[in-house]
Amino acid sequence: MIRFERVAVIGVGLIGGSFALALKAAKLCGHVVGIGRSAANLQLAKERGIIDSIAAQAPDADLVLVATPVAQFPAVLAALAPQLKPSAIVMDAGSTKRDVVAAARAALGTQISQFVPAHPIAGAERSGAAAASADLFRGKRVVLAPLPENAAASLAAVEAAWTACGARVTRMSAEEHDAVFAAVSHLPHLLAYALVHEFAGRGNSAQLFGYAAGGFRDFTRIASSHPEMWRDICVANREPLLAELDRYAAKLRALRPLLERGDGAALEKLFAEARAARERWLSSEVE
Ligand code: NAD
Repeated sequence: MIRFERVAVIGVGLIGGSFALALKAAKLCGHVVGIGRSAANLQLAKERGIIDSIAAQAPDADLVLVATPVAQFPAVLAALAPQLKPSAIVMDAGSTKRDVVAAARAALGTQISQFVPAHPIAGAERSGAAAASADLFRGKRVVLAPLPENAAASLAAVEAAWTACGARVTRMSAEEHDAVFAAVSHLPHLLAYALVHEFAGRGNSAQLFGYAAGGFRDFTRIASSHPEMWRDICVANREPLLAELDRYAAKLRALRPLLERGDGAALEKLFAEARAARERWLSSEVE
C-alpha cells in the first residue's frame, strides 16, 4: 500500500484541509505540513489536527497538494520548484486544468513529470480550514488530466491517494475537462451570481428577497461560493465559458417567443423534456 511520510498542503482550505483529513483517516500519511497565506487559518488547521506543523516551504515533502485559488498557481509553483525533491509528487485540486498545466510547465520546466493535474468534483459554498471534512470526497469523482510526461507510478500513487479518500478516479484531457466543467459547473455559478446581483441592484430588492423562497434558494445556493475562487475560475476558463454563455443565451432567446405568444403546449413540452432529462441524471447518480 502506498504511504506518504511527509505531505505538504499549500492552501489549507476546504479542499486542501479535507484531503489532509481524509489521508490521515486512511492512515496513508505521516507528517502533514500546512503552507498558506492566512496565519489565522493555518492556526485553526493545526488546532483541528488537519496539519501537524506550519511552514513557509516543505523541501522534504513526498507529496505536495496545491489547493489555492488557481490564479495563485504561477507564484506558488515558482516558489515550490527550486526546493522540490526529485522523488516528490506534486498534484493540484484546481477547478480548471489548461491554465494550471500551463502554469506548471512554466514553473517546473524539466521537473514537469512530477506534476499530476487533478480536480476533485466535490465541494461546497463554504471555505477555509473551518469547513474541511474527512468525508468530503467520499463517493465523489476526481478527474485526473495526466500529462504525457507523467510516470505510470506517479499516476498510480495519486490515484491511490484519492481512492483512499473515498473518491472514484476518472481521467480526461485538460481541454475536455475545461469544456465539460464550463458547462456543468462554471456556467451555473455565473448564472447564480448574476441573478442575485440583478435582484440586489433593484429599488425593491428588500421586498424581493423578503418573498424569495425555496426555488430562489436552490437556484442561487452556489452564489454563496468564494468570490476569489470563482473570479479565478471564470477568468482562467473564459473561452469555453463564453461559448456556454452564448448557448444558454440562445436557448433563452428561443424560449422567449413561446412565452410571448403564450404557447403553453410548447412550454410544457420543453419543461417535460427538461424534467425527464433531470430525472434520468438523478437516477444515474444513485450508486
Ligand atoms: P478555500 O478558500 O477554502 O481555500 C484556499 C486556501 O488557499 C485558503 O486557506 C487561502 O488562504 C489559501 N491561499 C490563497 N492564496 C495562497 C497562496 N498564494 N499561498 C498559499 N495559500 C494560499 O478554497 P477551496 O474551496 O479549498 O478551493 C481550493 C482550490 O480547489 C481552488 O483551486 C478551487 O478551484 C478548487 N476546488 C474547489 C472546489 C469547491 O467547491 N470549493 C471544488 C473543487 C476544486
